[in-house]
Amino acid sequence: MERTLSIVKPDGVKKDVIGEVLKRFEGAGLRIVALKMAQLTREEAEGFYAVHKERPFFSSLVDFMVSGPIVPMIIEGEGAIKKVRDLMGATNPADAEEGTIRKDFADSIEANVVHGSDASETAAFETSYFFSAFEKFEGR
Ligand code: UDP
Ligand code: MG
Repeated sequence: MERTLSIVKPDGVKKDVIGEVLKRFEGAGLRIVALKMAQLTREEAEGFYAVHKERPFFSSLVDFMVSGPIVPMIIEGEGAIKKVRDLMGATNPADAEEGTIRKDFADSIEANVVHGSDASETAAFETSYFFSAFEKFEGR
């Protein structure tokens, strides 16, 4: 059983597609085992995206991620990391496949509605970044 972190980003919350994202994950046989709404500080957003800190888009990405509330969640299931990435679609919605969340709802390569961990190490870091042991309801 694998776990991954997903986030409905500020643009997705503003567009009222939280339920749609949850439905797609659950509809793919994945299970939501932690969920909340939160608004990040700059420091928290910078820490979450620390791997990207040398990238030219970093400060704009941080501005975007603190621009409104987000909905982080932990998703559990067999092959959850890849399944969530497949449901999300490519980073740039222009490149995303038909029927993916980003193709259907994203406006730009930055405002692309959802986050999903890209590997087991990042999933472990990211799930713990947002949720304590007492907020995770795994393996039900
Ligand atoms: N991003 C951006 N410009 C880029 C690449 C990425 O603004 O050229 C943003 C976008 O919101 C993306 C996030 O930075 O989701 C993290 O980038 P990554 O390459 O990890 O894409 P992801 O894993 O989210 O598909
Ligand atoms: Mg990534």
